[in-house]
Amino acid sequence: MLGVIETCFKETTLPELPEVEVVRRGLESRIVGQRLLHVIVRAPRLRFPLDSDLELRLAGARLVGVSRRSKYLLLDFARQSAGGDQSGTLLVHLGMSGTLRFEPAAPPPGRHDHVDLIFEQGTLRYRDPRRFGAVLWHPADEGPIADHPLFAKLGVEPLSSSFDGAALYAATRGRKVAIKQFLLAGAGVVGVGNIYASESLFRSGIRPTVAAGRLSLERCNRLAEAIRATLTESIAHGGTTLRDFFGSDGQGGYFQNECLVYGRDGQPCRNCGAPISMIRQQQRATYYCPRCQR
Ligand SMILES: [Zn+2]
Repeated sequence: MLGVIETCFKETTLPELPEVEVVRRGLESRIVGQRLLHVIVRAPRLRFPLDSDLELRLAGARLVGVSRRSKYLLLDFARQSAGGDQSGTLLVHLGMSGTLRFEPAAPPPGRHDHVDLIFEQGTLRYRDPRRFGAVLWHPADEGPIADHPLFAKLGVEPLSSSFDGAALYAATRGRKVAIKQFLLAGAGVVGVGNIYASESLFRSGIRPTVAAGRLSLERCNRLAEAIRATLTESIAHGGTTLRDFFGSDGQGGYFQNECLVYGRDGQPCRNCGAPISMIRQQQRATYYCPRCQR
């Protein structure tokens, strides 16, 4: 089983930033440096139509790096040919149900195995039963990947040095929207999904319904710190899940098992013992402690 990378999620759990970062690290350690031999596209349509020339553009290119912007994986390929520089970046988004799996000897494809990237030492297979994901090619000569239209409205990366309490404070001024919804919208900071928003707000003692613009700088500092800590711990857990998968049936220890408030309505707060409340904000469940969070 060694050599297999798989992201495994419960049916109802979207791949969030920590899961995507775990996949990125797996790709970086196993595949970077290898040459791509072939591309097989079995479903021409995901969230966006797939480039029909992927094989032509990518075959023979070398994977030189894997980075991440929000929940997009950015696979950088380099290729010099007689026709000039044909380098570029393959953007991969796992959507709601996507997985990437790298195997030295891939089994015959199943119904939802939409794209195979065949490298020198194995096949990276993209599987997406619900087809909300994306696989897009961005040639280097079309400009820096950071300027891609998909990234134009995204907030800062929560684990980057540009994200801190001051940045959060600046981004929330004048905003009447509830802080929980502000976080989920991704325009101020990306990657704080539903679970991580509830958890970070609990850790910083902030009621999810408070208007974003009313948070003091001091509370923004605490929230920014809580967001970084929550995501960092979850990434560490994802790594554990990934390792566990090798010898088990794929049911790793999910971050949810460790949640302080998420999914715990009616159960005692781990801090004060009061029952955790659940409310809905824009159809999404929010969990909080009515006593600890103001
Ligand atoms: Zn409490």
